[in-house]
Parts: sequence; structure tokens; C-alpha cells
Amino acid sequence: MFPDYDVIIVGGRPGGASLAARLGQSGLKTLIVERSEFPSVPAVSTPFILPHTLGLLDEIGAQESEYARNTPRMNRFVLEFKNYFRVPFYMQTSAGRDYMYTAERGRFDTALWRNLGRFPTVTALENFAVTDLVRDETGRVVGIEGRHPQQAAQTFTAALVVGADGRYSTVASKVEAAVIHQRTDVDTTLYYAFWENVAPYDASGEPLAHIHTSVDGFSYVFMPTADGQTAVIAQGQAGLYDPAAGEVQSMYLQLLQRQPHVWRRLSKAAQVSKLSGMKRIGNLFRQPTGFGWALVGDAYHQKDSLDAQGIYDTLLSSKFLAEELAAWKAGQKTLEEAQEAYGRRIYAALRPMFDATMGRVKREIYDIPPTFIAKTVLRWVLTSPIYQHNFAANVIRQMPDPVGWTAPPQMIKMLGSGLGQSLGRALRRTPDPYHLPPASALPQK
Ligand SMILES: Cc1cc2nc3c(=O)[nH]c(=O)nc-3n(C[C@H](O)[C@H](O)[C@H](O)COP(=O)(O)OP(=O)(O)OC[C@H]3O[C@@H](n4cnc5c(N)ncnc54)[C@H](O)[C@@H]3O)c2cc1C
Repeated sequence: MFPDYDVIIVGGRPGGASLAARLGQSGLKTLIVERSEFPSVPAVSTPFILPHTLGLLDEIGAQESEYARNTPRMNRFVLEFKNYFRVPFYMQTSAGRDYMYTAERGRFDTALWRNLGRFPTVTALENFAVTDLVRDETGRVVGIEGRHPQQAAQTFTAALVVGADGRYSTVASKVEAAVIHQRTDVDTTLYYAFWENVAPYDASGEPLAHIHTSVDGFSYVFMPTADGQTAVIAQGQAGLYDPAAGEVQSMYLQLLQRQPHVWRRLSKAAQVSKLSGMKRIGNLFRQPTGFGWALVGDAYHQKDSLDAQGIYDTLLSSKFLAEELAAWKAGQKTLEEAQEAYGRRIYAALRPMFDATMGRVKREIYDIPPTFIAKTVLRWVLTSPIYQHNFAANVIRQMPDPVGWTAPPQMIKMLGSGLGQSLGRALRRTPDPYHLPPASALPQK
């Protein structure tokens, strides 16, 4: 029996839609199914889309003018360390861009889904929920079963079924994909809402990403997004940020209010959306492929959003799988060889940055240094030009060793350079660019 399709993809957001586009570019007969209808937003996500991610979006022909419609470009972010100091970071160039967006996910996901209309070999069904997988007598996955609401169940078959169905993946659960690597010691909880009329960060009025680490197990992020709104995140150690069911909103507001450098921007603003979020964001890799199936995106790999790498990693997993499947279709590899190569390549590409993100969550949210250390050692390291350059290069994946640049010998070098600069300024009596004025001296609207 010939299957109906070369590939069936379950899930139609960044992972699924980008994989379908790439398979369409190679002429593979593809079915992609998505249980929601577009436009719609995924359960939880307020994504920064960094320059390297824009490059992968170009490759699938996604239109920046659509997915980033009426969304401000930002070329810097500022990290405040309590009220001790602040450091600016400037976006470095990747894919010809030195700016980032905070995407409005409804707009972003819809643009990626509509992009599929360009590929004649891709069939896209929305409002279709997969309920089960179809297997042959050997146990191999050979298709899906699912339905449109209020309609009879349908089955479709394919040589390969791909789960692009997010962190609570039906495909991963049906095939019992094993967790092959996991960290549970730096879990964070995160809630966010959208606000209007937020005070600008500084007198320039330019949109920028503002991160405030309060050095007590919490961190806050302002993300200017589409149509004049700003997503405001409160994130914290999972053990400290554990509101009871009816207290999620009140705890979120209390957290924002107790930080003067956060609340000064919100005191005259209005929260215009309900709160969304997640307790204990997972940090794990699953088995990437098996007998007739593969996983991409969050179905395969999840991690804390602090470094904003989720969509890039998702698009990269789809890219690697599509490349391997094109080689299979061209007769250069068996399907099993293509699957094995995908699994090996994607783990090698994602694991170092995963480790780097875990290190950063530990440094910025879990470690609570004594005030004296934060104001000296930490300040010298973070304000070092080497740190600023390497950090900005790392988040667009341009550091060859994402973890090694923060190893102790490198930290000592950065500390020396930051300290040297600080002493130089003191001797020359020049103003300190990293000084964080009291909240009352900054824009309040
Ligand atoms: C709080 C938070 C903040 C984040 N911030 C960032 C950020 O700043 N930058 C960044 O790059 N990433 C960020 N991410 C990560 C990013 O959101 C994910 O990596 C990305 O959405 C993964 O895409 P995906 O296509 O794999 O899965 P999803 O976006 O989860 O899409 C999965 C799709 O599968 C569909 N589906 C599920 N089950 C079925 C079924 N049975 N049948 C049919 N369809 C099904 C769902 O309806 C959904 O549409 C963040 C994540 C979180 C949680």
C-alpha cells in the first residue's frame, strides 16, 4: 500500500509551518494539520524574535511586512541589576539585520500558516485535531487519526509522521518518546500580560527591551510589541513564584509594584489583557525520532525563555529535518539514515546553547549574591566591554562556544577589564555610564 503522503505534520505554528514550507520547497507531498484556526495565538508565548531567527524566516519565504506588521524594531536592550547598575546591549548583525521584534504571536503564526498557500505539494488543514496515531502490524507509525469538530474521524497515512505539536505533544505521548536529557534544578515560573500607556524607558522614547533583575529570585521584562502594546513579564524561581489558583493576578501585580524601577513605568499604564503564563517551564530534550515518527520544535526540546531561543531552535529543527528528508526523497539516504542524521545534528546544534541558558538562569535568577559582590565583582564583569560583546553575540548564536565564554578564566579576564575601566573613569573623573538613577528620576509618563 502506498501512503497518502510522504510526510504528515501535526501542529501548524513555527515548527510545523516552517517544516511544511521547506518540504514544499523540495516537492515532498505533505499534509499539515492544526487543531486551531488562524488567526489565533498559542497557549503561552511572548517572543522576542532576534536577528538570527529572521534569517531562518527569510529562508522559508515568510514576509517580514506581514509577521511584524505595526511592530516596533528594537536594536538594544538594557539589563538593570537591582538598583545597583545597568548595562546596555546592542543587537549585532545577523541575516543583514541589527534589530529584533517582540512578535504578536497571532500575527506571526498566521503569516507562517498563510505562507503555505505557495506550495502546491502541501495540503494544510486547520481546525483538525489529531486524536491517535495509526500503526501497522509491526508497530510502525504509518499515519494519523483525527477529526474536524462534529465530523466523523478521518485517517491519513504517510511514510513519516512528525510531531510539531508543542510541549504537550500528542505525538510524543502516543509514541512514548523518552526524555533523553533534563534539568530540574533551575525551573522558573513566568506570567505576563499586555499593557498600554507604558512610560518610555528613557528620555529618547525609543522602544527597547528592558530587563530588571531584582536579585531576590525574580526578573522582569518589558517587551514593546505590536499596536502600541507592551508585554510585561514577571519571572521567578519556581519555588518562590507559586501562587494559589485564585491569586495569580494579585501576586503578579504585587511583584511589579514592589520594584520601583519596574513600577515607575506602569503606575499610569493599564493592563489590557488577561494574565498568561506557566508554572515550572520545562528544560528537556526528548528522543527526536523513532519507528515512523519524528519530533521538531517544542515537542522535541523545551527550555527557559530567558535567552529567547525557542523559535530559532524550533525553526532550526525543522530546517535540519527537511534537509534530511529531501536527501531521502532524492534517494541519497534511507528514511532511517535521514532520521538518524537529523537526531544527531539537532542535538549537537542545540545542546550547547541549552547549557548556556541554564547557566544564565542560575546566574541571574537563582544565585542571590551578597550586595557587596553584586556591586563590585558582578558589576565589573557585566559592564566589561568583552561581556557586552560576547553576550550580544551569544544570543544570536555567533559565539563558537556558548558556555565556554563564561568559564572562570574568561570571567577573570572580564572582571579585570571591567575593573580597569571603572578605575580609569574614577581617575579621569568621567561620568559612570552604568549608573542607574533612582526610579523617581526616570520617566514616569
Ligand atoms: C513564556 C514563554 C516565553 C517565550 N518566549 C520566547 C521568546 O522570547 N523567543 C522565542 O524565540 N521563543 C520563546 N518561547 C518559545 C516559543 O514560544 C516556542 O519555542 C515555539 O512556540 C515552539 O513552536 P512549536 O511550533 O514547536 O510549538 P507551538 O507554538 O506550541 O505550536 C504547537 C501547535 O500544535 C497544535 N497541536 C497540539 N496538539 C495537536 C493535535 N493533537 N492536533 C493538531 N494540532 C495540535 C497546537 O494547537 C499548536 O498550534 C517562549 C515560550 C514560553 C512558554
